[in-house]
Amino acid sequence: MIEYTVIRKPNRKTASVQVSPDNQVSIIVPLDLPEERIAGIIKRKTRWIMNKIAINNQVKYPVRPKDFVSGEAFAYLGRNYRLKVAEGISRVELKNGYFLVTIPNKGKAGDARLIRTLLTEWYMQHARLKLAERVKRYAGIMDIKSYGLTVKSLSSQWGSCSKDGTLQFNWRIVMAPLRLVDYVVCHELCHLTCHDHSKEFWQLLERYLPEWKELKEELRQTGALLTI
Ligand SMILES: [Zn+2]
Repeated sequence: MIEYTVIRKPNRKTASVQVSPDNQVSIIVPLDLPEERIAGIIKRKTRWIMNKIAINNQVKYPVRPKDFVSGEAFAYLGRNYRLKVAEGISRVELKNGYFLVTIPNKGKAGDARLIRTLLTEWYMQHARLKLAERVKRYAGIMDIKSYGLTVKSLSSQWGSCSKDGTLQFNWRIVMAPLRLVDYVVCHELCHLTCHDHSKEFWQLLERYLPEWKELKEELRQTGALLTI
């Protein structure tokens, strides 16, 4: 069932359906068009509406590879932020919708490498905070009392769970929307109970994350783009 708002306009001869960027569906109709006709139009346009919503929901990741110059976009928790490079002591700040990176003696050959290093450190530091927060939240829900947590660069995995109960995460996951961070977090937390990918494991995950299948697929499709 699609929820929608009916907007009746006196000078309207035809109906038109709209989907706003935040997925609000509205239909503009002539003043006297009966409700059942409106419902019929919405029903016929369901596929078109769902398609619009799917496009709205698709995260547009920034292009690669990077030159690390002002104006390029970098993703954090599924949102893109422009890079602004300025002169100053080496540091990174996410403020006013920008990644502000300051470096000393701007304009050298090694600038790109330094900016890359600084941004990677920033992601690493924020990945530690964000992952600790999400793990704590879901461990509470799952009633898991003890676990270890490390964040590092992993080449081919988003996370892992060792036999001694240490969860390991790839810092690059914080470039993705929070729903994908939560998928990886819940996946690894469930491995504390169930070490393989058996039917029991996926059933356990489903208890805490009913939409895990969609999230798994989204991560599979977009994961390669989560890099700087
Ligand atoms: Zn797994």
